[in-house]
Amino acid sequence: MSKRILITGAAGFIGSHLCDRFVNEDFEVVGMDNLITGDLKNIEHLFPKKNFVFYHHDVSKFVHVPDKLDYILHFASPASPIDYLKWPIQTLKVGSLGTHNLLGLARVKNARILVASTSEVYGDPLVHPQTEEYWGNVNPVGPRGVYDEAKRFQESITMAYHTYHGLETRIIRIFNTYGPRMRLNDGRVLPNFFYQALSGKDLTIYGDGSQTRSFCYVTDLVEGIYRLLFSDYAQPVNMGNPDEITITQFADEIIKLTATTQKVIYEPLPKDDPKQRQPDITKAKSLLGWEPKVQRAEGLKITYDYFKKIMK
Ligand code: UDP
Repeated sequence: MSKRILITGAAGFIGSHLCDRFVNEDFEVVGMDNLITGDLKNIEHLFPKKNFVFYHHDVSKFVHVPDKLDYILHFASPASPIDYLKWPIQTLKVGSLGTHNLLGLARVKNARILVASTSEVYGDPLVHPQTEEYWGNVNPVGPRGVYDEAKRFQESITMAYHTYHGLETRIIRIFNTYGPRMRLNDGRVLPNFFYQALSGKDLTIYGDGSQTRSFCYVTDLVEGIYRLLFSDYAQPVNMGNPDEITITQFADEIIKLTATTQKVIYEPLPKDDPKQRQPDITKAKSLLGWEPKVQRAEGLKITYDYFKKIMK
């Protein structure tokens, strides 16, 4: 009999790619999303499939799923700075109440649960690159606090269910990830730059552009999530691409790729914007034999084709 998996945030960027992967692997997939930032377009191709069902539901409210569940992937949350500034209370609730509901569901179903945490638990990090042992530098009452603290609480309650109830839990800390189905208007640097290049606007660099990020292509991340779910490791694991660049270099790459004649313009750096970010993925490598395979040049080309198509 096939295994049954609940994926929350199913209509979102990463959630929809996870639905694809598990549908293709012949799991029975139950997708759930309240659609505040998710988009049904990301999963409409799955609706005709026999092994996919979708529930329009907010996991911050009591979650009921009939029949058995073997696995739960909790990927519901606003996840870009613009989104969690727009939905601060929902962001706090989905990471806290939502996670609590899903842990409870995992208990009654005797299911293994993997929760999506984030490099934001490290805040504006004082240790570089970030290892899982680093506790972070987070401003709880800053604009990013609603996301960072929700995710920190999520990790904490997940570990408590593991320790006190013996629940099978997994925690992934996701670093910047990109690819098709990112929302054009989610405010992140990559959709912003593509949108600007494609619509003849100047590219907006916040601050002086010396801040760094490391961008992981989405299929690499999905492979890592898949391996972590089926591992026996309950401590947090970083996943991302260690190939770190400055935002200025990133803007140059987008300008070259799109052959735009626009220039870069400078805007103020948002409050508490992390100055540097690069995952230390030693754990993922040694425990799961995982590392990213897709080079940025290749991933950006696929993503550019996607944005060209949706902007037509
Ligand atoms: N950024 C930028 N221009 C933009 C959008 C973002 O320079 O139009 C910067 C932002 O200040 C941050 C980095 O790009 O330093 C990545 O921002 P993003 O919102 O993608 O995600 P974050 O990694 O900060 O969560």
